[in-house]
Amino acid sequence: MEDRLEDLKCKTRDFVETEIEPFSAEIEETDAIPQALAQKIAASGLHGMAVPKEYGGMGLNVLEACVVMEELSRVNQAVVRFIGGSITGLAQFGSEHLKNKYFPRIARGEARADFALSEPEAGSDAAAIKTRAERRGDLYYLNGVKHMISNGSVNNLHLVFAVTDPQKGARGGISAFVVERTFPGFSVAAVQPKMGLRGMPIARLHFDECQVPQENLVGEEGQGFLVAMGGLDAGRLQFIGAVAVGASQKLLELSIERARSRQQFGKPIGEFQAIQWMLADMATEVHAARLMVHDAARRLDRGETITLQSSMVKVFASETAWRVADKALQIHGAEGLLKGSPIERFYRDARLGRIWDGTCEIQRHIISRTLLRNSGT
Ligand SMILES: Cc1cc2nc3c(=O)[nH]c(=O)nc-3n(C[C@H](O)[C@H](O)[C@H](O)COP(=O)(O)OP(=O)(O)OC[C@H]3O[C@@H](n4cnc5c(N)ncnc54)[C@H](O)[C@@H]3O)c2cc1C
Repeated sequence: MEDRLEDLKCKTRDFVETEIEPFSAEIEETDAIPQALAQKIAASGLHGMAVPKEYGGMGLNVLEACVVMEELSRVNQAVVRFIGGSITGLAQFGSEHLKNKYFPRIARGEARADFALSEPEAGSDAAAIKTRAERRGDLYYLNGVKHMISNGSVNNLHLVFAVTDPQKGARGGISAFVVERTFPGFSVAAVQPKMGLRGMPIARLHFDECQVPQENLVGEEGQGFLVAMGGLDAGRLQFIGAVAVGASQKLLELSIERARSRQQFGKPIGEFQAIQWMLADMATEVHAARLMVHDAARRLDRGETITLQSSMVKVFASETAWRVADKALQIHGAEGLLKGSPIERFYRDARLGRIWDGTCEIQRHIISRTLLRNSGT
């Protein structure tokens, strides 16, 4: 790794170990990010990692952001989403007015944005969303429901996707809007309790004649699906790929320690070939997943379209995290199952990675469709 990335990695790891790790148990217990930790994160400037420097952010490129995400997720994946937010769509398609209005606040940690696409009847089939946006005068009026929105109940900005032309569907009929929590007609209907990722609530959001100023349209009317897909391509690298690698690396390290320290039959369990081979497989997969994340990130930083690579990263990295978590639990034996054990927590969190930001089945569909199209069949 180049010096610049190594330096970023070391600084982030130091912050993670000294400032975030001590809050890990509290996050798990309370299912929230403690105020004291939120203040430390805001002071670190990390909220602005992807915000361009001219708006007060750190201006990290995608590869650098992936290195930071990997380090953050060694401790807690909920913290990753709390810090990162969803700003790719705004960065790629937002007007100068929107960037000037929101980016400095995001960089200071005063505003945090989520990504509101999924609906009760539109999960994998995101183009089937029903939330409507109708323009009357200078305002758009939004009506509909979003669900499973990460941090939707605690964030104050929402990148919302809604239908502006039902005839056109995903090809020109969907638009993206920045909706502030205080806009009339917006409400958080419910927090939806889930099995893992405690500290990152998912929520159902209601839009009831929600009034959105015309200038809060992101890109042009009808570009919403492009905004969403661009955000998902980058998001799958940072929030799924790099996060899966960071969590898997941590699980590997914990498993090596356990293999050295746990004695059975008069010797460390690491002397049994069954355990050695599990460690070897874990290390091999983590290494491969990291290379895939970095390769796709470099491509995106060069301006390449990475839909294919990003889908491959999502499938391989999220399934690697799942296999690694399973092996880590096996190596730790019953102790790994106990509440309070990091293995138990990582195991639950790893399972979610195969579902959100587009399931692995949908990614396989995207990969195979691209392969077949490119070979002309
Ligand atoms: C922790 C978490 C956080 C989330 N955060 C957000 C968020 O911030 N913003 C947001 O918009 N959404 C969010 N989601 C929603 C997430 O993106 C959806 O769960 C995901 O897109 C899948 O949709 P679904 O759950 O409705 O499953 P469904 O679409 O109902 O799919 C069910 C099963 O059918 C399979 N399937 C569906 N269609 C096909 C097909 N064509 N071919 C093969 N198999 C198929 C799926 O792969 C899956 O196995 C979050 C979800 C989770 C779990």
